[in-house]
Amino acid sequence: MTESEDLAEIRRAVQALCAEFPGEYWREKDRTRDYPGEFVDALTRAGFLAALIPGDYGGSGLKLDAAAVIMEEIQAAGCNGASAHAQMYIMNTLLKYGSEEQKRAYLPGIADGSLRLQAFGVSEPTSGTDTLSLRTVAVRDGDEYVVNGQKIWTSRAEHSDLMLLLARTTPREQVAKKTEGLSIFLVDMRQAVGSGMTIKPIRTMMNHSTTEVFFDDLRIPASSLIGEEGQGFRYILSGMNAERILIAAECIGDAKWFIQKASDYAKDRKVFNRPIGQNQGVQFPIARCYAQMRAAELMVHHAAQVYDNGGNPGAEANMAKMLASEASWAAADMCVQTFGGFGFAEEYDVERKFREARLYTVAPISTNLILSYLAEHVLGLPRSY
Ligand SMILES: Cc1cc2nc3c(=O)[nH]c(=O)nc-3n(C[C@H](O)[C@H](O)[C@H](O)COP(=O)(O)OP(=O)(O)OC[C@H]3O[C@@H](n4cnc5c(N)ncnc54)[C@H](O)[C@@H]3O)c2cc1C
Repeated sequence: MTESEDLAEIRRAVQALCAEFPGEYWREKDRTRDYPGEFVDALTRAGFLAALIPGDYGGSGLKLDAAAVIMEEIQAAGCNGASAHAQMYIMNTLLKYGSEEQKRAYLPGIADGSLRLQAFGVSEPTSGTDTLSLRTVAVRDGDEYVVNGQKIWTSRAEHSDLMLLLARTTPREQVAKKTEGLSIFLVDMRQAVGSGMTIKPIRTMMNHSTTEVFFDDLRIPASSLIGEEGQGFRYILSGMNAERILIAAECIGDAKWFIQKASDYAKDRKVFNRPIGQNQGVQFPIARCYAQMRAAELMVHHAAQVYDNGGNPGAEANMAKMLASEASWAAADMCVQTFGGFGFAEEYDVERKFREARLYTVAPISTNLILSYLAEHVLGLPRSY
């Protein structure tokens, strides 16, 4: 399959931008757990983070396949798209279900970089993957909602102006269908922090700017509600296909980085007077990872195509995410093995990327839950939970 010249051009443009942010930049950020603000600003200035925003609202109105190419190239260059990826996939909920007024109010600012929509508040400490059990509530009070509860793993909350928040608006016992009663809000965090919203960073094994967010009688205008009250779960589910495809594309980029890095090193490193890559025991794992990555890549492209053609790629997006995250993790492990002891030294970036790549078989959805989805919805097996 040959790629269109438009996509190839996007690849080259992202590669050129990423070349300005070499390994030392990321190592320093990793060491200090600093947000890579310069990188995110550069991506924003170049218009990459506004790829999915329609032209009428100041974006470039590209399709998901183009957004996927952007995310893949960021990772393949050794950079870390997790600093900004949510802006791409959160967008879908606002685009699809936001009112015209909300889109006019926010999208042009997001497109020109004066507003950041980077925070997505779904996960909670007690509910885990069981999203319908979440406990954060938003209670209508006149022309406001009052929010109480807690989110966990809300990444980039300290570096975002806006948060897409999922909260319960009708008690679970009072809804006709269990998927109803949750609502989505676009919360302006600039007003909320210190007036009922508190953010606490969580230090993790990689530099991910993730946090806990506490809501204590936070008052937000009723106009923050996106779409219809009680339908929020449905709205985020539809956005999750885009999220999975974009994360899968990032994993493909990571796998390509590890494979390239390992191949280069195996050609160069001499032990017993010959390149280590001359040994089949070293070259076969690299070749196997390449084949695994290419197979996953086909599924990512297929899922993006189904999405862009207006289909519902629930199964394809899930499979793409699972296969690509497994391919990137296999490549990460292979790369450390190929580097031997040097795989553990900071200066090669392998250990940093290894830590970063580990996330994606767990988040934004873990492999078990994808398998459960396929078992139930594709194969017709009984629901297991
Ligand atoms: C660094 C990081 C950043 C994140 N960023 C965000 C963010 O920005 N916004 C956000 O809302 N969330 C975010 N998350 C949360 C992430 O989406 C969840 O961690 C992920 O969905 C897994 O949920 P959990 O951690 O609650 O695991 P749990 O639900 O507690 O599951 C733990 C383990 O049990 C398995 N399991 C659970 N139930 C079943 C079952 N029925 N059958 C088989 N296996 C099962 C899971 O597969 C998993 O392996 C982030 C997480 C991390 C670590």
